[in-house]
Amino acid sequence: MNVWPKGMKRTKSRVAIYKVLEAASQPLSPKEIHAKINQGDFWLSTVYRVLGQFEQEKMILRIAGMDVNHTLFELNRHEHKHFAVCIGCHQRFELDDCPIHEDVHVQAEGFEITEHRVEVFGYCAECLEKMRLSKVKHDA
Ligand SMILES: [Zn+2]
Ligand SMILES: [Zn+2]
Repeated sequence: MNVWPKGMKRTKSRVAIYKVLEAASQPLSPKEIHAKINQGDFWLSTVYRVLGQFEQEKMILRIAGMDVNHTLFELNRHEHKHFAVCIGCHQRFELDDCPIHEDVHVQAEGFEITEHRVEVFGYCAECLEKMRLSKVKHDA
């Protein structure tokens, strides 16, 4: 647990949620996190509350989805990564490069950029194939 802040108490729910995020290879929704830790002793509202605390401590990153119900969270591994999100299945695919260049210009004098997020949406090959097949069926 290399990013656990000194002042944060290791409660059962915090540790359980942290472990799920640590083991995850891709960002998870609060519901997915809840499903992974739930042995009947945690409420979904607890997951939301703990995620809020983690976010405040910058232990995790929020990845906005197409709407609030698809907000995802991942451990802040202090890596510089961006994802493309499939609108069909909500899978995340890592981008090769950062599309933001250092000379990005903000139309406000004196503005200092400290971080950035990039959101790319589309359809993965699997979803495209599914759509193509359903269209063929529909046309036939
Ligand atoms: Zn897809
Ligand atoms: Zn970037």
